[in-house]
Amino acid sequence: MDETIFDKILAKKIPAQVVYEDETVLAFKDLHPQAKVHVLVIPKTRAASLQDFAFWSPEATGLFFHSVIKVAKTLGLDQRGYRIVMNTLSDGGQTVAYAHVHILGGEPLSGAFS
Ligand code: AMP
Repeated sequence: MDETIFDKILAKKIPAQVVYEDETVLAFKDLHPQAKVHVLVIPKTRAASLQDFAFWSPEATGLFFHSVIKVAKTLGLDQRGYRIVMNTLSDGGQTVAYAHVHILGGEPLSGAFS
């Protein structure tokens, strides 16, 4: 599997603005923020996409999302809310082949499904 930019961030080969880390995830600021707060959360166990991760381990996927919620709370977003996006494969707009969640918030977001 090719080394992605997120593998390099996890391995500390390139810098990132880390906002949260625990035994299962690393969270860092998106380089091109689409909202006042825009953080990416990656599992420390490598998977190319959400599908690969979920089929590998439903339990790890559950723990991953639990950590994502903890990151949102750490960022102070738990009272007013936030959006979680997980682009999956090419039609889903995934550009980095390492499973990751976008947490967007810090302001009212437009374009929500209703
Ligand atoms: P996606 O389109 O869902 O694969 O999202 C990839 C995200 O990674 C984009 O929002 C990029 O802005 C972000 N990104 C790419 N390179 C870096 C980097 N070195 N540090 C932080 N975020 C990055």
